[in-house]
Amino acid sequence: MKREGYISWDDYFMGVAMLAAKRSKDPNTQVGACIVSPDQIILSTGYNGFPIGCSDDEYPWEREGEQTKYPFVVHAELNAILNTRGKSLEGAKIYVALFPCNECAKAIIQCGIKEVVYLSDKYADTKETIASKRMMSSAGVSFRQFTPSVGQIVIDFAGVEK
Ligand SMILES: [Zn+2]
Repeated sequence: MKREGYISWDDYFMGVAMLAAKRSKDPNTQVGACIVSPDQIILSTGYNGFPIGCSDDEYPWEREGEQTKYPFVVHAELNAILNTRGKSLEGAKIYVALFPCNECAKAIIQCGIKEVVYLSDKYADTKETIASKRMMSSAGVSFRQFTPSVGQIVIDFAGVEK
C-alpha cells in the first residue's frame, strides 16, 4: 500500500522556493523562487541578493537613506531565470513566495515561462504589481495563488539516525 501523507507537487515546489529564500542575506525581505518544467522537474532556483562579486558585507542592505539596496539587488525570480545560464524555460512554471514585480514579470514573459504560482499578493495595490498582472495577462502567462495542502513542512536534520 502506498504511503499516506506525502506532499503535493505544489507543496514541494513552493517548499523549495521557500527554502531557497533562507539563503537570502536581506535583513527585511527574503524571497525565493523555483522554476519547474512542464514534466515536474526542477530547472532552477534563486533568491534575492546582490550579483556575483558584489559582497554582502560591502553593499548596502538599507531600504532608506543615501545608500539603499535597490540599485543593486537581483530579485529571486530573475536570479532563478539567470541561474539557468540560458537553458530553455519554454512552458515552465515559476513558484515564488511573493507575487513578481513588473521587472521580473518582463523576464518571466520573455524567457517562455507560462505559469506563476505565488503564495502572497500583499503588494497587489501597488502600480508595479498591477503592471505585472497586466503584462502577464497580455502575454498569456497565467497566475494562481498557491493553496497549501499542509500547514507546514518540517525538515528535521537532528531526527535522522547517524
Ligand atoms: Zn522582481
